Amino acid sequence: MRLSIVSTGEEVLRGQIADENALFLSRALVDLGLEVGRRFTCGDGLDDLTRTIAGALRDADALIGSGGLGPTADDRTLDALAEVLQAPLEVCPEALERLRRAFSEMGLPFTDNQARQARRPVGAELLDNAVGTAPGIALEREGKLIFWLPGPPFELRRMFSDQVVPRLVRWREQQGGGERQAQRTLRVFGRGEGWIGEQLAPLEATIPGLSLGFRADLPEIEVKLYARGANPAELSARLERAEHEVRHLLGDVVFSSGQTLPETLLDLLYERRLTLAAAESCTGGLIAKLLTDIPGASVSFLLSAVTYANTAKEAVLGVLPETIREHGAVSETCARAMAEGVRRVSGADLAVSATGIAGPDGGTPEKPVGLVHFALAHQSGTTASRRVFRQRTREAVRALAAAHAMDMVRRHLLGLPPLGPPAPPKHEAR
Ligand code: ATP
Ligand code: MG
Repeated sequence: MRLSIVSTGEEVLRGQIADENALFLSRALVDLGLEVGRRFTCGDGLDDLTRTIAGALRDADALIGSGGLGPTADDRTLDALAEVLQAPLEVCPEALERLRRAFSEMGLPFTDNQARQARRPVGAELLDNAVGTAPGIALEREGKLIFWLPGPPFELRRMFSDQVVPRLVRWREQQGGGERQAQRTLRVFGRGEGWIGEQLAPLEATIPGLSLGFRADLPEIEVKLYARGANPAELSARLERAEHEVRHLLGDVVFSSGQTLPETLLDLLYERRLTLAAAESCTGGLIAKLLTDIPGASVSFLLSAVTYANTAKEAVLGVLPETIREHGAVSETCARAMAEGVRRVSGADLAVSATGIAGPDGGTPEKPVGLVHFALAHQSGTTASRRVFRQRTREAVRALAAAHAMDMVRRHLLGLPPLGPPAPPKHEAR
C-alpha cells in the first residue's frame, strides 16, 4: 500500500517557506505503518497541478495533497482535481451554509468568491475544517483514496488527525490489513559507510521483508532497518532479529538505537552517577557545545576548559612549560597533562582532552593536519589515543575529534577496549 504526498504552491516550490506539510505527513504516515512511495511538489498553475496530481495518483494506492483550496483565483486545486478525475465541480449546499454561518459568526462579509470553497468534484466528500474556512476533500476512485487538505500547516495537521487518520485506518482494514512497515535506526561511530555496508551485505538476503538504508549524519552513521510485515507482531519480531544481527556483525561501534552520541554518553554517566569534564584545544568548545545542547546535562557534565593557547594550558590546567617545549602542544604527553589538569580543577570523576591540528594550515610531515591526541583521566589512571582524521576541512576534523573524545568516554564506561582498526567481515569468517 503506497502513498503519494503532493505539496503545492509557488512559495514552497521556490523555497520561500519550508515544506512543513510534506514532512509532517511523511512522518505521520510512517508512524501509522504506511509506506510513503513518493513526494511531489508543484506550483499553482492549473496545467502543472493537473499533471502532478495525475502522475502522483498513477503509481500510488492513495494520495494526500495540500494547498490551493482558498477562495482566491490563484487557488486552482479543485479545478485540477476535477480535470484529473473527470468529475465536474458542484457546490455542496451544506458546506455553503456552514461557510455562510462561519463568516457571520466572525462578523465578516461573505464575498462571492468565498463560495468557491464549497465546491467539490462530484462524488467527493467535503471534510469539515474546525480551525479554518476551507473544507478538505476525501474521495475514493477505482480503489484509490484521495485526500486534499488546506495549505496552512496548523489546519492541515488538525484535519489530518481528526479526519484523515480514521479513514485511512478503516480503508486499510477493509483491504485485509495489507502490508505494514516499521523502521528502526541504529547509530554507529568509528567506521565508514563502506565498511558498514560490506559487513551488513548478507543481511537483506537472510531476513525476509527487511531492507537497509545508510545515512551519514557525520560524524555518526545511521543504519536504518526497514521491515515489512502483515501485522505489528511480525514487524517487531523482524526488527528485533535484524537489530540483533546488525549488532553482531558490527560489534561495539553500534552505540545506540536512536540516541545520538552525546545523548548516549550523558545517559551512561547519569546511570553510573559519574561526572565528566573536558579540556579542549582544537575542538574549541565543541565537546561542551554538543553535551550542553541536551537539557539537563549539568547533572553529569561539569566543565570544559577551552585552552586554545599554550599559556592557557599552563595557567588553567597546570600543563608544564617543558612538556609543551619538549613534546609540543599536540602530543600525547600534553593531552595527558590536559586531561589530568582539568580533572583536578573540576573535581570530575572523568576528564577527557583533545589537542590536535584542525587545519587548514599548520601541519608538518610528523604532525599532519587532522592529527589529534586524546586522553582520558579517571580514578585508576590515564589512557591516551591518537587519530589522524583524513577529512581535511577544519569543520570535519573538529566534529570527528569531538565525537572521538565522547566515544572514548563511552567505551571506558562500558569496559570496552579502545577503538582499534576494523576486523575482517564476520560473515566471511563463518
Ligand atoms: P488559504 O485559504 O490560506 O489560501 P490554501 O489551501 O489555498 O489556503 P495555500 O494558498 O496553498 O493554501 O497556502 C496557504 C499558506 O499555507 C501559505 O502561504 C503557506 O504559508 C502555508 N503553506 C502552504 N503549503 C505549505 C506547506 N507545504 N508547508 C508549509 N506551509 C505551507
Ligand atoms: Mg491559497
